[in-house]
Amino acid sequence: MATSLLRFPPPQGLLRPLAVPERLLLGPGPSNVPPRILAAGGQQLLGHMHPEVLQVMDEIKAGIQYAFQTQNPLTLAISGTGHCAMEAALLNLLEHGDTVLVAVNGMWGQRAADIARRLGMLGTPGQHHPGDGHLPLCFMQGLVRHKPSVLFITHGESSTGVLQPLEGLGKLCHWHGCLLLVDAVASLGGAPIFMDQQEIDVLYSGSQKVLNAPPGSAPISFSKQAREKMLRRKTKPPSFYLDMGWLANYWGCDGEPRRYHHTAPINSFFSLREGLAMLAELGLESSWERHRANCAQLCKGLRDLGLELFVKEEKARLPTITTVRVPEGYDWKDIVAFLMDNHAIEITGGLGPSVGKVLRIGLMGCNSTSGNVDRVLRALRDALRCCRRSRL
Ligand code: PMP
Repeated sequence: MATSLLRFPPPQGLLRPLAVPERLLLGPGPSNVPPRILAAGGQQLLGHMHPEVLQVMDEIKAGIQYAFQTQNPLTLAISGTGHCAMEAALLNLLEHGDTVLVAVNGMWGQRAADIARRLGMLGTPGQHHPGDGHLPLCFMQGLVRHKPSVLFITHGESSTGVLQPLEGLGKLCHWHGCLLLVDAVASLGGAPIFMDQQEIDVLYSGSQKVLNAPPGSAPISFSKQAREKMLRRKTKPPSFYLDMGWLANYWGCDGEPRRYHHTAPINSFFSLREGLAMLAELGLESSWERHRANCAQLCKGLRDLGLELFVKEEKARLPTITTVRVPEGYDWKDIVAFLMDNHAIEITGGLGPSVGKVLRIGLMGCNSTSGNVDRVLRALRDALRCCRRSRL
């Protein structure tokens, strides 16, 4: 009998069928993927340079231009999640000697500052109070004091539930010779943003929130000024995979014949295309209204349960993700676990500066419905009854 050369047996887990339970994902993302988008992602593969795939990429580009309200030719989807788009933006825009001013109004500003520091750039954080939707004075002063070439700010701070007003910020940045870079991963499609009108130079988002596609692709767009800054670079961007020169070519943004750069996640692009198509069919204004109305219903219901909203001012609230203070006498982990175990609903605790302080409830894209608001409120009412700890 031939003796096997194998020293390790096949893993037992892989010999069992894949088991994926049904859950209502009402955390800060990902959100549930509707059947139409699941079906798109389950299509048979095509080659990444086939004309049909290039056509899908062109349609994605047009969908992103609509969602971002921009005519920027350099508009595409990164093969990666929101973090990947954040890194792509920073590492293509910044070069040694550049300064980036980061508005830290929660977790995502901290992340951007971390990435900027790893790139060897001075990530100068402009502190910004979590839960405060206003542009603080110190942050405007930062533009004068640090003379940054890029200002980073998060539009929808998913860690705190704050919607950052952007009015006038692009103009202010340009007045100071600075480019404006905005993270709209958690807000795109859920709250108004107008890339061209608001003079945003780089805007990015993610696939798994309002767009209801699986994680793994990230819309991004660059203004003419941002593009010019990248063209003036003396050194190549420190990542080949995220080099915007290569990506612009692969996405047909530079007028040159398309060349192979990487094998795109084709099925993720199919899903993203459908997510963008559903947003285009619904219309941005209807989508914003849907998120506003369901967030308002949720906030009222949370207050009726005796809970305290983390973001006091209504217009500073992110319509996609609502933060509520962990009520006294409760441990947030008990509430999160109770909803998961008894109602198959995901909500989450805080993140970064809001850890331990809040619960986060997301209503994004197709998950933003009045029925889901009722469902999560019912589950929370149950949790408040069952999870109180006598001594904490
Ligand atoms: N920015 C914001 C505002 C986010 O909410 C998230 C995801 N929670 C990210 C960036 C990072 O995106 P991803 O997890 O897709 O990498």
